[in-house]
Amino acid sequence: MTFKSVKGTKDLLPQDTVAWRHVEETIRVVMELYRYGEIRTPVFEETSVFTRGIGEETDIVGKEMYTFVDKGGSSLTLRPEMTAPVIRSFIQHSMGEQAVLNKLYYIGPMFRQGRPQAGRFRQFHQFGFECIGQSAPECDVEVIAMAAEIFRRLGIHSTLKINSVGDPVCRPQYREALQEFLRGVHDSLSPESQRRTESNPMRVLDSKDERDREATAGAPVILDYLSDGCRDHFERTCRMLDALDIPYTIDPRLVRGLDYYTMTAFEFVSTDLGSQDALGGGGRYDGLVEQLGGKPTPAVGFAAGVERLLMVMEKTQYQFPASAPLLYLVGMDDVSRSWVFHKAIELRQAGVAAEIDYASRSVKAQMREANKLGCPFVAIIGEREIAETQAQIKDMRKGTQESVEFGRLTEYFTTLRQREDGGQ
Ligand code: AMP
Repeated sequence: MTFKSVKGTKDLLPQDTVAWRHVEETIRVVMELYRYGEIRTPVFEETSVFTRGIGEETDIVGKEMYTFVDKGGSSLTLRPEMTAPVIRSFIQHSMGEQAVLNKLYYIGPMFRQGRPQAGRFRQFHQFGFECIGQSAPECDVEVIAMAAEIFRRLGIHSTLKINSVGDPVCRPQYREALQEFLRGVHDSLSPESQRRTESNPMRVLDSKDERDREATAGAPVILDYLSDGCRDHFERTCRMLDALDIPYTIDPRLVRGLDYYTMTAFEFVSTDLGSQDALGGGGRYDGLVEQLGGKPTPAVGFAAGVERLLMVMEKTQYQFPASAPLLYLVGMDDVSRSWVFHKAIELRQAGVAAEIDYASRSVKAQMREANKLGCPFVAIIGEREIAETQAQIKDMRKGTQESVEFGRLTEYFTTLRQREDGGQ
């Protein structure tokens, strides 16, 4: 009997995790610059955190959650997204009372039982950030700018779509106008959208079904229904994006069909992805903290899929930093093999990545291995080197060679590494 990883899940092997760590590191560097603190919450929560936090009407809650009853009889769910858990934690730890603004970010696995297909997995990874506590449009713009900055650093070309979904004051009028329109084209809509016309009409606008797209081409747009406050927020957001040279297109069909979403909604899409082209999205959700039992608190956030980013980077042949050992120590005979084994451990303890052979291979085979790994330095150690306590260090990139006293090897490579780290 052989076992395989569960459908829709993936092993990340060492050759994969190099790229993953690079993406994660880039995210952390940007988060540090914007002073966002990392939050890590458990991978499962009480189911109601999500049913209340995301909404029963969504695909996520309706169809995709991994929900189970534990031995104590509690209904628990593997997190399908992170905004609801972050807000649950924000309320639980009274973060709102300790600071006027809480800036949090996360990177971690999420779980959704959708149909696995290219770009859609059952365990996937998201990174995201939540800016909680202020309603200033500067917060919306900052969140968008951070996402754009991460994409830029990773060489990902993306298009930003933005819209305003209004607030609980102006949205009901739009909802009514849209509903009336949808009832008029009822017969041309997909069955799902016919149902949603009554339960959540705004979701009909982001249906991918061609029938719905055609039937709703002339639907009323929310931007015509915004209250003065929402309009002002939207215009200021757009003006700041202009000033920062962040290109965007206004997409009046971009809606987040949940009650707690307010004003700004946005999405980054990539032309380097197929039908699952969304890199990530976000928006303002001034109603969520209250919905989960906290005090009314404005907030705005963003989340993106790490797998999607990596798919784009693979396609555009992004050059990930190499992770070759700095030095390969080749041992010629039993005595020198034992010497290189101990020297390699000493060098590693000093922070120098050294590699050796463990399979008693010939000098030629060891050289081939060093080459394959891309080691910039190689030293062949034999009887003569041991007698003279000198190593001949070959610089594989320059084709030069230098003699280094055994006692100075660690120092030689630590200073070399420091110089390389310093970018010299
Ligand atoms: P959402 O929370 O649905 O708005 O998703 C945000 C981002 O997470 C998407 O734009 C995708 O990049 C990613 N994502 C969502 N669901 C999946 C999935 N099943 N597999 C891989 N990535 C996903």
